[in-house]
Amino acid sequence: MTTKSLVIHPPPTLVTAANTALSNRIVLNDPTLESTWSHRVWVASGCTTVIISLAKSISGAADSHMWLEPIFSGLVGYILADLGSGVYHWGIDNYGGAETPMFGSQIAAFQGHHQWPWTITRRQFANNIHALARAITFTVLPIELIFNDPVLHGFVGVYSGCIMFSQQFHAWAHGTKSKLPPLVVALQEAGILVSRSQHAAHHRPPYNNNYCIVSGVWNAFLDKQKVFEALEMILFFKLGLDPGPGVNPTPTGPKIPKHLQTAIPQNNNDDNKRA
Ligand SMILES: [Zn+2]
Ligand SMILES: [Zn+2]
Repeated sequence: MTTKSLVIHPPPTLVTAANTALSNRIVLNDPTLESTWSHRVWVASGCTTVIISLAKSISGAADSHMWLEPIFSGLVGYILADLGSGVYHWGIDNYGGAETPMFGSQIAAFQGHHQWPWTITRRQFANNIHALARAITFTVLPIELIFNDPVLHGFVGVYSGCIMFSQQFHAWAHGTKSKLPPLVVALQEAGILVSRSQHAAHHRPPYNNNYCIVSGVWNAFLDKQKVFEALEMILFFKLGLDPGPGVNPTPTGPKIPKHLQTAIPQNNNDDNKRA
């Protein structure tokens, strides 16, 4: 018997299934899905920041007996937060990599989310939203120290709150209906939070739509008008930035752009981000 005859090659499908099962086990046991005290501190500071803005808006409205304008600006904040979440999500899904200054970890996490999207449901709450909570703390606190306008704070409080919790809304969009709180399901079905079906489309070919993850109200318009495609063209021709065709986790589908491949962690536990 020759050495060659002893080599047994398992069928490719079995190799794939075994690898997938192993990968899933690694993801489920990954301690980086758990919240740390530093995550919780950042979430507490982000929540405090949002509450200060809302409190300033409410007390200013009470003092001036002017309620309509702050409520209206809060509504505008809610609607524009969905747009903001989409623009941010589109940007980090398609540009840069783990090595990008400031946004590198967010980019790697969002892009990694596309390989094992469901793992976001295993990520603990503070772990999932702490990066946005930290960003909200740094950007919104200065506004609070400088301004007292109740209309401005109606907008800032609701907008920043929706952005901070967008990763939680995103996680719920990956949930199973029977396992989600009934109120969350009701809000998703009412279109107040991004729906499971709408976000599921983001994880299917061609992987370049439904980026918004607050209410999802902007998705139809942005995708129908090809707004992100137009932005990609502008960035490409004006700045020479080359967008990837989106992140496709299936090896048989359209290619994953090279710069995204390097950004996706191989033991992927980073679904933080995408969104
Ligand atoms: Zn994405
Ligand atoms: Zn997702």
